[in-house]
Amino acid sequence: MNDIVEKSLLETSRSLRERQVKVIEVVEACLDRIEKTEPKINALLHLDRESCLARAQEMDRSGPDPEKPLWGVPITIKDVLCTKDSPTTCGSKILENFRPCYEATLVKKLKDAGAIILGKNNMDEFAMGSSTENSAYKIARNPWNLDHVPGGSSGGSAAGVAAGQCFASIGTDTGGSIRQPASFCGITGLKPTYGRVSRFGLVAFGSSLDQAGPMTRSAADCALILNVISGHDPDDSTSVPRLVPDFLAALAERKDLKGLRIGLPRQYWEEGISPETMECCQSAVNLARDAGADIVEVDMPHAQFGIAAYYIICMAEASSNLARYDGVKYGFRDKSRADLLEMYRETRSQGLGEEVQRRIMMGTFVLSTGYYDAYYKKAAQIRRLIQQDYVQAFESCDLVLAPVTPSTAFKIGENIDDPLQMYLTDIFTTSLNLAGMPGMTVPVGLGKDTGLPVGIQLIAPAFEEALVLQAGQVLENALPGLGTPKGLS
Ligand code: GLN
Repeated sequence: MNDIVEKSLLETSRSLRERQVKVIEVVEACLDRIEKTEPKINALLHLDRESCLARAQEMDRSGPDPEKPLWGVPITIKDVLCTKDSPTTCGSKILENFRPCYEATLVKKLKDAGAIILGKNNMDEFAMGSSTENSAYKIARNPWNLDHVPGGSSGGSAAGVAAGQCFASIGTDTGGSIRQPASFCGITGLKPTYGRVSRFGLVAFGSSLDQAGPMTRSAADCALILNVISGHDPDDSTSVPRLVPDFLAALAERKDLKGLRIGLPRQYWEEGISPETMECCQSAVNLARDAGADIVEVDMPHAQFGIAAYYIICMAEASSNLARYDGVKYGFRDKSRADLLEMYRETRSQGLGEEVQRRIMMGTFVLSTGYYDAYYKKAAQIRRLIQQDYVQAFESCDLVLAPVTPSTAFKIGENIDDPLQMYLTDIFTTSLNLAGMPGMTVPVGLGKDTGLPVGIQLIAPAFEEALVLQAGQVLENALPGLGTPKGLS
């Protein structure tokens, strides 16, 4: 990596504002890095090279604006967030030529804060997947080992940030899609509390679960981005009208974990975790203890039902949300059909991929008369029990610490023909979305067998992102860091 792209977002924004480096230099460094790494990792679906260079020159001319915390900083955005007048495909053929006529609220906030949006990241189609192999365009690869997946569905975002293509990306997390790829690629990724960040302009998959958040190379960088994108939005009635603390300032308030009780959910630390992952996660627990935390065991009695409840609920919501892609209003249409019903059928059969079709069918089934009570209603009841598990756990601890995934990044092709196996890789991430809690992946080491990154997730009660970030930074400071991804050298 060159010097510029190795720096953190925080450092870069400081040097830009102090004019130690020009915006054009930073943008060119990122574009250069993209040129070198993109053929290997396929992290991007769209790149706005010319307009970004022009924007950089314009910014250098007008000079820094102290009101803009991200002034001149190049970032990328998962292609599930609407960007005005530039493509937004959701990794799907059905939205191949779709250019939204409006901007997602969080994209607007990032632009208003001075960020330069380089392009849109590769992803699993409509954010359904755990490996980015479900992208209708190309398969993204893990910068640590190109034969392995970068995780998903925000795999392009994670791979790009790890490879130094940008200083941050915005991912989305419906059942783990920020935390799992962050773990697989050795970066930091934060899923905020449901309602913390506006979903306006985030193309819906599971509306009661979806939440966008930062993917960066440090906790402080996550805090800076979260400061910008958080807050109530009149265009999203599920965004919460609640004061947004200064997450970056909060980081200075804690240097250790003294006085904090960290809970290890018994059910999450049992068998089924690969030995190298377990070893790295255990070392993170030891670090937390050394930093002064009180480690306690907590109980999550309904954890084992999380995956089943999650997949029923997200598929039910997806079947309803994706009904809008009918060839009439958006993107692709099979124009060879004269009959309306046939046009719908052909457009959806050709425009949507296998996994998306599977979920629409299963979602329709679990909502149908005669099956609703047995599946959807039961899943909704379990969701409530899982929420209560968290409420109870947080009576005896301040933060929960758990593995992100049972193993390091799997090989490309390893799980793609076995959907159930693929779903099971989300075993430790989905309960958080069901409960609406915030959680963050912190990279803790490289597995001794595979040499691939291992992350751990810190989970806090709703709206306690500051605590997650503080504890994440303490662990980060105690760790040596992973170094640069081996697959790119
Ligand atoms: N892997 C999970 C799924 O396939 C989560 C996806 C996500 O968080 N967007 O549904």
